[in-house]
Amino acid sequence: MDKQNKLMIYSSLSGKKEEFIPLNKNFVGLYVCGPTVYSNVHLGNCRTFISFDMIYRYLVHQGYKVRYLRNITDVGHITAEFDEGVDRIGEQAKLEMLEPMEIVQKYTVYFREIMGLFNALPPSIEPTATGHLIEQIAFIEKIIENGYAYEINGSVYFDVLKYNNDHNYGILSGRKIDELISGTRDLDGQDEKRNPLDFALWKNAAPEHIMKWPSPWGMGFPGWHLECSAMSTKYLGDEFDIHGGGMDLKFPHHECEIAQGCSATGKSPVKYWMHTNMLTLNGKKMSKSTGNFLNPDELFSGKSELLTKAFDPMVVRFFMMQAHYSSMLDFTSDALMASEKGFHKLMEAVARLENLPTGNSSGFDVQALVQSFYDAMNDDFNTPILVSHLFEAVRCINLISDGKETISAADLEFLKKEIHGFVFDVLGLKNSKTEGNNDKLDKVMELVLEMRQQARTDKNWPLSDLIRDRLQDAGFTVKDGKEGASWS
Ligand code: AMP
Ligand code: ZN
Repeated sequence: MDKQNKLMIYSSLSGKKEEFIPLNKNFVGLYVCGPTVYSNVHLGNCRTFISFDMIYRYLVHQGYKVRYLRNITDVGHITAEFDEGVDRIGEQAKLEMLEPMEIVQKYTVYFREIMGLFNALPPSIEPTATGHLIEQIAFIEKIIENGYAYEINGSVYFDVLKYNNDHNYGILSGRKIDELISGTRDLDGQDEKRNPLDFALWKNAAPEHIMKWPSPWGMGFPGWHLECSAMSTKYLGDEFDIHGGGMDLKFPHHECEIAQGCSATGKSPVKYWMHTNMLTLNGKKMSKSTGNFLNPDELFSGKSELLTKAFDPMVVRFFMMQAHYSSMLDFTSDALMASEKGFHKLMEAVARLENLPTGNSSGFDVQALVQSFYDAMNDDFNTPILVSHLFEAVRCINLISDGKETISAADLEFLKKEIHGFVFDVLGLKNSKTEGNNDKLDKVMELVLEMRQQARTDKNWPLSDLIRDRLQDAGFTVKDGKEGASWS
């Protein structure tokens, strides 16, 4: 069982599923592009990090010793106006009238808190871009030495055309250099770059720019693509196993990372490139810049027009696990309600495992059932298929519990161990601590809302308003809908 079966991973570089063979037997180097900490992470960002948390968890479950890096981008993530040197963190610092490092601290703390609520394991190393300036400068020097970058006016640019003569710029994203060139426009001939496609490795900082550091080229700051190359290779080597991020990072970010790696070391840095798909809202990608997003706290408190109630972080995690990481997933309140039911059903069955009666062997094949869990995960981390097999197990558990099916003591031990492994360790679900209390609270609230409904039927408006207001004071929001009142 388990590890003997091949783990297949869809590689974005080759466009097909490939058998996972780590570069060093039993060890895995995993790098995931982390958040740019200039604002609160939204639920879309969370989906990507939760997907990689599940991938990390499965690799660990399979016995690999994984060194998992997820960086914090605390400088250099530039907006479209990069050529003007607009750094997101610097901009936000101006807006909030804080030091850039206060911005970084504030949103890093929030990010970690949210990841904790989603039960995402901390990475082995969480390196920051500002903590690795020496490495980034050294990386640029290597690229210049190898002839793929040039300095001008205190900035250093990557020479895309020169690189493309010797390598293939577009190898990951499938973009063609000619099309890329025709898609760019020279900003009024003001551009100091040799070619508009060239990207900055180091940017000269104007005197008023806040975040800047000394370098061989003067005061400036590093380009965004560079930090991931410098930090991943520092801790994982010039070549490492898995590099991940959301699909939207494939181009230019990851394409540029490959170019930087190849031109500095002559080697393509990553064996398996993995990309997660987007969480959408109203059918469109969740994104800060378009305003089409939901914050995790809105979800946990239910305070959003888009929601009919609050949701437990574990329900949200389960909702995400019900889709394959490479499929789009649309967020709706209804879909979450359905996941909530499924989640509770699964958790109740897992709890029931503790007290199942044992007896004769089962009529169902426990070994085959458990094997199906592994098969699903070995097929490119197919969590929705895993979940469907877990529900098959739920059905069996309920039959045993109802006395309609039997299980031997040995089979029960085995099933319990494997179900715990997949539900808690791999999917990263857990029973919310307050769940027992939530059930009780649900019942009390149901009663209170029924009493309020009775008051409304009796046209006793003062009483119905009093109930609503007192609930409000206690932190409960009551919403009157078509199907009666609900609370959060
Ligand atoms: P950023 O902080 O913008 O660099 O984004 C952090 C991570 O979130 C990146 O890997 C993005 O690809 C990912 N991401 C951004 N928007 C979404 C979304 N709507 N759904 C899933 N992942 C996303
Ligand atoms: Zn990155």
